[in-house]
Formats: sequence, C-alpha cells, structure tokens
Amino acid sequence: MATIQTVRCPNCGSLAERHYLPLVSQIKTQCDVCDYLLVTIDRTGKVVESYAPGLCPAHLAAERKEERRVLRRLSSICHQQNIGMLSSTWFRAVV
Ligand SMILES: [Zn+2]
Repeated sequence: MATIQTVRCPNCGSLAERHYLPLVSQIKTQCDVCDYLLVTIDRTGKVVESYAPGLCPAHLAAERKEERRVLRRLSSICHQQNIGMLSSTWFRAVV
C-alpha cells in the first residue's frame, strides 16, 4: 500500500506530496505548484526520473503570501474555539 506524506517541495518550497511505493520500491516526490518531480529507488536513492522546472519569483511570492494568510486564519479559528494550536507536524509543514 502506498503511503503519502506532505513535504516541502525542494524546488519551490510549496507543499508537495511524497509517495512511498513499496510495490515498485520507489519514492516519488511531486509538486503541483512548480511541476517538480523526483522518482528514486527507496533503498539506494538512485534517481529513476526527475524534472525540476525553473521558477518564477513573482509566482513563488504569491504562493508564500497565500500560505501565510491561511495559517493566520487557521490560528485565529483555533484561538476563537479554544483549540490547542495545530499539531506540530502540520504546523512545521506550513510555516
Ligand atoms: Zn514545487
């Protein structure tokens, strides 16, 4: 069964997905924001396929601004409802 983890894209810093694919012994990291792709063999780290497009600074700045806005809103909701702040894992993934 594949496991999916949210990680930072090593190319643009946005939230990306890392898929652990035991059936093919591969790890695939993909980012929908910048189209980054990296497929490696899980035990050796050998690259099977990769694609890292160039980045547009204006686009990246807009993405970061949106992430900060979402985090502030979520923090406000947690505070209003007296909920302990987000799980540390999620918080680290967003900040
Ligand atoms: Zn990216």
